[in-house]
Amino acid sequence: MIIKQLSRRQFSVLASRLAAGFAAFSSFGGCSAPSPGNKTFSDLAAKIAGDVITRDHESYAERRRNLIWQLRKTDRRPDAIVQATSLEDVISTVKFAAQNSMKTGIRTGGHSWVHSSVRDGGIVLDMSRFRDLAVDAENKTAVVGPAIYARELAAVLGRQGLGFPMAHCSTVPLGGYLLGGGQGWNWGSWGGAACNSVLGLEAVTADGEPVRVDEKNHPDLLWAARGSGPGFPAVVTNYHLKLYPLPRAIHLSSHTWPLQDTLAVSEWLPEVGLALADKVELFMFLLGLPEPVDGASKVVNVTAVAFADTEKEARELLSPISATRPAAKPIMSEEVKPVMFDDLFNLVDLSFPPCRTAADTFYFDISMRDVMEKYVDHFATAPSPMSNVLCEVKPKPIHLPDTAYSMRRLTFLSPYSFWMDENEDEQNIAWMRRTQEILAPLSVGHFVSEADLEASPTRSERSFSQANWQKIQALKNKYDPNGVFHTFLGH
Ligand SMILES: Cc1cc2nc3c(=O)[nH]c(=O)nc-3n(C[C@H](O)[C@H](O)[C@H](O)COP(=O)(O)OP(=O)(O)OC[C@H]3O[C@@H](n4cnc5c(N)ncnc54)[C@H](O)[C@@H]3O)c2cc1C
Repeated sequence: MIIKQLSRRQFSVLASRLAAGFAAFSSFGGCSAPSPGNKTFSDLAAKIAGDVITRDHESYAERRRNLIWQLRKTDRRPDAIVQATSLEDVISTVKFAAQNSMKTGIRTGGHSWVHSSVRDGGIVLDMSRFRDLAVDAENKTAVVGPAIYARELAAVLGRQGLGFPMAHCSTVPLGGYLLGGGQGWNWGSWGGAACNSVLGLEAVTADGEPVRVDEKNHPDLLWAARGSGPGFPAVVTNYHLKLYPLPRAIHLSSHTWPLQDTLAVSEWLPEVGLALADKVELFMFLLGLPEPVDGASKVVNVTAVAFADTEKEARELLSPISATRPAAKPIMSEEVKPVMFDDLFNLVDLSFPPCRTAADTFYFDISMRDVMEKYVDHFATAPSPMSNVLCEVKPKPIHLPDTAYSMRRLTFLSPYSFWMDENEDEQNIAWMRRTQEILAPLSVGHFVSEADLEASPTRSERSFSQANWQKIQALKNKYDPNGVFHTFLGH
């Protein structure tokens, strides 16, 4: 376990972050207004095996709250929450929505920071029971339901010496993650964005037809499934995935400096990024600490994970880190530590606890140093010590295959405002708004899966190349001409 390899001080810092993350739950007012179409919904309830929960149902408030993973919930109120338990349930629900001119939001894990699937009126189709998991180890393929979580998939594949670029947080399911492109573990050497490893899918279209989607059948839908996110015009009931041999000796190196060293560290990041092989994943984090370390309560951390097969290879892969490190002395360091996939999830989960959240994402054509020069002082003012910013650089030439996923640039920032107390909403949201004011004018695009799609009517459009955005709209018109499924929030 990575925790055993951390110093006592590092462990106590990480442990207190985790404890803070689980300390409280949000309060949320219930809703009891009658739904206009209960009579109609009882027809659907009679047809399907899963629950149909309308607004007047005693468990509606709780079920609506539980649709959303983070603790800051939306006020939007769908007319009904439909828990699908089978393909037949999905088909009946989609046909019902089409016949009754009701819009449907599709939800699997509810991780969308902006609660994309939960809208006012209409239906939320809950796909969280779609949990098939069949691995063909010989052919390195798997059929996986959208509701299988990253940690579950890693565990099952790991036992067979296989891997897949799952999300960095253990609790993220494949459902919306793969549709949004999927920025996953080891994506540098496991085929790029995780959606590139989607060989095909089983889906239900807006007219309630089950379809098989692959290179031969509806290839345009496969193109869209690889990155269009909430623009995808069908319900995914299973993914067919390409798998990879699991590296046998994963190691990480990690260094942490006081926040005032951010410019030096961010200047170094592209330099070391160029020197590192594709088997090494490199992140920079701006982090708050619950208690100061060597006088620093806000820090900049760089972590590199080498997906190697031997310790010797890992040492070689990580050697550019220690060889080129900035002169400033780190206040915490780990050098070439062996880790398992579980350890990686544990480590990242510490920085992404279930709490009240406001998030956004920004791509830039300018360097990390230039972005930090304008931004780091504002990070220092974050009211909550839990808030952090994930930063990545891509200094090597970027070659994206022809998929809907089309936004990747030199510099990437994903700021997260995390807090626990509802009374602190205003100050933490204001901090995120100011973050957006600083970063938006410098940026050239967004990552659709984690962008604040409501911050601007162009957030979703700017998450794609212009040609791909037009193609996504055309496919939406082709496969869902009557708008049975919701599209991008805020657009
Ligand atoms: C803690 C945390 C960590 C994260 N880490 C990463 C990461 O490492 N890499 C990364 O790329 N992203 C990451 N994300 C973002 C994540 O990928 C998206 O939030 C994604 O939408 C999560 O999938 P979901 O099924 O929970 O989405 P939901 O919130 O359930 O749905 C979001 C949207 O996805 C679509 N959708 C969901 N399920 C289906 C389905 N079965 N069929 C058709 N459409 C569907 C719908 O349009 C829906 O509106 C993270 C998010 C969180 C909260």
